[in-house]
Amino acid sequence: MTTANSNYRDEFKSVIQKLIDSPDNQHEQLTNFIGNEFVASEKCMDSVNPATGKPWIKIPNGTAVEVDNAVAAAKEAFKTWKNTTVQQRSALLNKVANLVEEFNDEIAILESRDQGKPIGLAKVMDIPRCVQNFRDFANAALYSLSTSKILEQPTGKCVNYVKHDPVGVAGLISPWNLPLYLLSFKLAPALVAGNTVVCKPSEMTSVTAWVLMHAFKLVGFPAGVVNMVIGEGRSAGQRLVDHPDVHLISFTGSTLIGKKIQEDSAKLNKKVSLEMGGKNPGIVYSNYRKSDIVTIARSSFLNQGEICLCTSRLFVQRPILEDFLTSYVEEAKKFTVGDPTSQVQIGAMNSKVHFEKVKKYIEIAKSEGGTILCGGVKEISNGCEDGYFIAPTVIVGLPDSSQVMTDEIFGPVVCITPFDTAEEVIERANSTSYGLSATVWSANTDELLNTANELRAGTVWCNTWLARELSMPFGGCKQSGTGREGLHDSLHFYSDAKTVCVNLASKY
Ligand code: NAD
Repeated sequence: MTTANSNYRDEFKSVIQKLIDSPDNQHEQLTNFIGNEFVASEKCMDSVNPATGKPWIKIPNGTAVEVDNAVAAAKEAFKTWKNTTVQQRSALLNKVANLVEEFNDEIAILESRDQGKPIGLAKVMDIPRCVQNFRDFANAALYSLSTSKILEQPTGKCVNYVKHDPVGVAGLISPWNLPLYLLSFKLAPALVAGNTVVCKPSEMTSVTAWVLMHAFKLVGFPAGVVNMVIGEGRSAGQRLVDHPDVHLISFTGSTLIGKKIQEDSAKLNKKVSLEMGGKNPGIVYSNYRKSDIVTIARSSFLNQGEICLCTSRLFVQRPILEDFLTSYVEEAKKFTVGDPTSQVQIGAMNSKVHFEKVKKYIEIAKSEGGTILCGGVKEISNGCEDGYFIAPTVIVGLPDSSQVMTDEIFGPVVCITPFDTAEEVIERANSTSYGLSATVWSANTDELLNTANELRAGTVWCNTWLARELSMPFGGCKQSGTGREGLHDSLHFYSDAKTVCVNLASKY
């Protein structure tokens, strides 16, 4: 195992600081990371700051050959990495966690500039969660997977134990909404289980992943254990999926791409985990606690509504509809929208394409007879004139069959509709092709639990949102996903269980 350089903190700091100091430096160019080397890509492209609408850095547009090189490095490194002890791997991951934690606030600046979210949010959510992912998996893996049983037979006893072998080279493909948070949720379990990896972060948000690669190298990860190719999904991502030496694909992103990856991976019988889109319902019963309106609104608008778990359809029991709408719109208007470097709650939509998509759905809502109670495009000054801002948008008057009520919009847009009975609302909430998460709001425990019981979703929150113990299974039903992530589920996914049976009576 390589010993970490005692000056690595300073080196890590200077990598981050150089990026922070060059907000408009289009000459700064990121690289791929292959075999512990930062390697220039044959092709590159601009990465745009969504708050200004201007390119701020150049990033690789990784080619198939570059992916092949990264996979070759990972394949070679696997020969020795798989034989390291879990204690060694865990210790290295904890060092990564410590290093990222030390520069939490600086990395948050980069996450915000690249993604569009407020710096304040990245500081308290994205980067701390990345640290927690590394730490929790590093520690849990030490104790989680071992099991053994004694088998008693007339001829003597056998001991059966389960060895969890790493799968091999893991391809990790992540989206742009929670860049470091979600990539680390794959990296930590994959590595601690003994796999080597090739990461393909979203081409919209690759900067903090590139910073993270420095952390791996600096703390002493052996060459080839962690590799990254930055680039477009259709080229770099697709090659990773099609590569015969990549044995496992962990994907988080849209349902459309996830289903394609599932099809392509099936040809090589790869292990696949898919975390995909959602159209999450929230159900508000008449007796809900009024102070929960703050959390209900937050569940729709946090991170510009760009969280797969955000509520986008709110079903409100008819007797309280008018009061609820008044309070909810009041709450929605309280969200400050603007330059993500300032003290705002809502920053910019991640890209122009995404901005246009969300705007299009607001237009469709109008054309389908919906009423926009608040929100829409927001003009921001002071350098953000060309940025992509949308204020919390509340729509009423749409039928459940509307495209706006069934398609994933993935922005700060929520449709509110009345319901009468529990039976009715459960059927309507379950009526889309998605099944990622749901929220239920009621003062009546039976009502909460009966509703939670009937909802087809991977996670149901009752009188809360986004609170999740990391060891619990996480994932989607129906078109929202295949498989589960979480402490135990991820460790199982990133390993192949092998049962070994030893005859204790054998004498040779
Ligand atoms: P996306 O599917 O467009 O891209 C996700 C990743 O896949 C990116 O890295 C992209 O480059 C890559 N990719 C694209 N085409 C590919 C291909 N042919 N082969 C291999 N890789 C390819 O998704 P997005 O727009 O980046 O992210 C938003 C989506 O992610 C939303 O649908 C959201 O619901 C979903 N999401 C789901 C979860 C979850 O846990 N279920 C979490 C976050 C985001």
